[in-house]
Amino acid sequence: MAAPIHIAVPKTEVAPVPCSSPAAQMSFEYHPQFAFADADVVLCSTEGTLYRVYSYTLKTTCGLFRTMFSLPQKLGVEADSKTPEPIPIYEHDNVLEKILCMIHGLPIPKWKSLDDLEQVLFLAEKWDAQGPQDAIRAVLTSPQFLTEPLRVYILATHFDWEDEAKLASQSTLSLSLHDETHQPLLSRLSSKYLVPLLNLHRRRRDLFKELLDSPERFTAGNSNPYHCSRCGVTQLENHSWRELKAAMFIEIDRCPLGDRIGSLDLASWPEAQACWVARCRKEGCGGLNYDKAATLRQIKNCLDQLPMTI
Ligand SMILES: [Zn+2]
Repeated sequence: MAAPIHIAVPKTEVAPVPCSSPAAQMSFEYHPQFAFADADVVLCSTEGTLYRVYSYTLKTTCGLFRTMFSLPQKLGVEADSKTPEPIPIYEHDNVLEKILCMIHGLPIPKWKSLDDLEQVLFLAEKWDAQGPQDAIRAVLTSPQFLTEPLRVYILATHFDWEDEAKLASQSTLSLSLHDETHQPLLSRLSSKYLVPLLNLHRRRRDLFKELLDSPERFTAGNSNPYHCSRCGVTQLENHSWRELKAAMFIEIDRCPLGDRIGSLDLASWPEAQACWVARCRKEGCGGLNYDKAATLRQIKNCLDQLPMTI
């Protein structure tokens, strides 16, 4: 491997010069990782940084360059010069550097954000570079990026990556998709992928309601009539249970994941506490209407029945 070429003038001290300008080669410096003296192609970033790389590498890893270099040309090398004419790429250094590292098998700088990853991914698509797309696919659903699940879902569905789309759809369950803040992102989805996502959120809410209304699962609360299990005389008045079900419905509509419902937090809701103290009104009985532990356990069980992904 040839020693990197460094052009003395720091890029921070020079005015922007178009890559096509003859001055460009003199004014800008090569990227230290991509300055192979015998390489036959020079790419130029938006900032004017030069990347001197081998056309063979570009051709074998990127469909775009395979096509481009199959056309009759001099690969940008002047016939009477050893310095290739820079090819403007119109991409920023942070993007170009990463994709070139990927196609050269060099260590990839740490992804700083989903923006960072998204820009490289779309350039890889533009260049028809399968390797970088696969490498990005492998990290797309890492916890670092799933903090923005809707964006991950959009990217995964754009590339028809089904497993990643499913994982991302699960992470969207902590979001209320009705919230206006999500509308700009949702509008980027085609109906092919928007409908299943909305359906997942709605199915969780509706199925949860159905399960909460089941007399088999919640005998005391949903059977009509149901008599006090202690005295067997008083017919239960299930007002507090209905209030708790309504509160849980509102909560799962707001957050389809239902993590507040499935946690210990639920037991302390005012609607839940009203259930735990509800008693038989018959004098001398005072039996509790609902078994707190069994009710909470059954509610958790209902949540566990709900679909998690598209
Ligand atoms: Zn009773």
